[in-house]
Amino acid sequence: MPSAPKNRIGSSTVHSLRISGIVEESCVDGPGLRYTVFTQGCRRNCKGCHNHATHDEDGGYFADVQSILTQFAGNPLLAGITFSGGEPFLQAVPLAFLAEQIKALGKNVFTYSGYTFEELLRLINTDSVLGPAVEKLLFFTDTLVDGPYIEEQRDLTLLFRGSSNQRLLDKSERERIRASICLVDFYAHNAY
Ligand code: SF4
Repeated sequence: MPSAPKNRIGSSTVHSLRISGIVEESCVDGPGLRYTVFTQGCRRNCKGCHNHATHDEDGGYFADVQSILTQFAGNPLLAGITFSGGEPFLQAVPLAFLAEQIKALGKNVFTYSGYTFEELLRLINTDSVLGPAVEKLLFFTDTLVDGPYIEEQRDLTLLFRGSSNQRLLDKSERERIRASICLVDFYAHNAY
């Protein structure tokens, strides 16, 4: 288990986000034409990572969340927004707010994470500060691409993923996983 993400990316707030860049129209970061935000800061250090420049939590630059929203809303051709990295969940507070606004516009949200969904659930249950924002970002995320990049499992044929351990998890699949974890916990605590 990696160290739990803490919301300490500089002075990242609900209104500002530390990013490494934005691609205003992307065809490779999810379904349809997408507005992709590459967040700054990642602690996973996956072997073979192609985004080393996004690791430094003091790197990149700050972007105003409202400006991102205005630019997004100005392009009717966009199917949705993609949060990539870096590690988006390190900045779950501003991204959850942004995701909520994007959903209100009727667009979809595609979020990448180097953490597995199970690790994010553990974070929700153990981090009283960041946990609620992680929960909220997951709530407004239509599709989560989870897990670290594993060089030994690299597969260029996969849709929107770099290695075969990574999963495309929609809401129903995430609910199924969450329910199965609850069931395991129930039996673990009620063994007799
Ligand atoms: S999670 Fe992504 S950005 Fe972070 S080290 Fe792994 S591949 Fe690179």
